[in-house]
Amino acid sequence: MTIRRVLQELYKFLPNDLVQRLQYLNSSLVFNLILRFQSQPSKLNLKPAMVFSPHQDDETLGCGGMIALKREKGVPVTVVFLTDGQGSGGSMSKIKEEIIQIRKQEAQSALSILGVDSSDVYFLDKPDGSLRDLLGESKQKTIEQIIELLKKYKPQEVYVPHYKDCHRDHEATYTLVKEAIAQLGVDVDLLQYPIWIFWRAPLFIMLQLKDIAAARKLSITEVQSRKQQAIASYCSQMQMLPRQFLNRFLGSYEIFFKVEL
Ligand SMILES: [Zn+2]
Repeated sequence: MTIRRVLQELYKFLPNDLVQRLQYLNSSLVFNLILRFQSQPSKLNLKPAMVFSPHQDDETLGCGGMIALKREKGVPVTVVFLTDGQGSGGSMSKIKEEIIQIRKQEAQSALSILGVDSSDVYFLDKPDGSLRDLLGESKQKTIEQIIELLKKYKPQEVYVPHYKDCHRDHEATYTLVKEAIAQLGVDVDLLQYPIWIFWRAPLFIMLQLKDIAAARKLSITEVQSRKQQAIASYCSQMQMLPRQFLNRFLGSYEIFFKVEL
């Protein structure tokens, strides 16, 4: 049994608010250590970017500041959602189709606040939670959809969730996009944004130095309130995500880990 599994089992016996408090402490500690000692300041560049987001909210939480800063300078930014987000209805007694539509509308509002035109937002509509199960032909079809978008927009920077982000769709998004870049044979900067990794990976037990190497921190102070506004427009998700989990994304820095291709 892995340490992650042991901890998940252990957490089941603890009260929910205690688990969240432990996760918050872990997340704040790891994030701040990386911010202070393990990352290089990075200046905003003018490279066109494409952000791949497993669900409607990951792009804004992980890269909202970067997106707003680039768009302010007129740099093209495209956002591609891989899943339809149907799994995140929480206690809402809504039918799946309704949840999908709500999340799409929230994504368009959040991205318009960040300066992204709706024509630069794509929804690949894979069923939420299914990305890691894509095999054979359906996996290759998804990779080809990603390749088409890379060919169309020719981004110089590509953003994906961290490869160890402790969520199956997030880790699968990394793998699918990396495979598409390899098949297309293009030279791009591939940058990982962390969403769940600090929250779910207990202290450094699960993290190795190579996982958090090549970290860059981007100051987003100038657009911080705009990012907060964009996050708030994800009303359906804000009701469900732990408040303490969201705290990290409201701050003045975003962290990215560069992948050596
Ligand atoms: Zn997600």
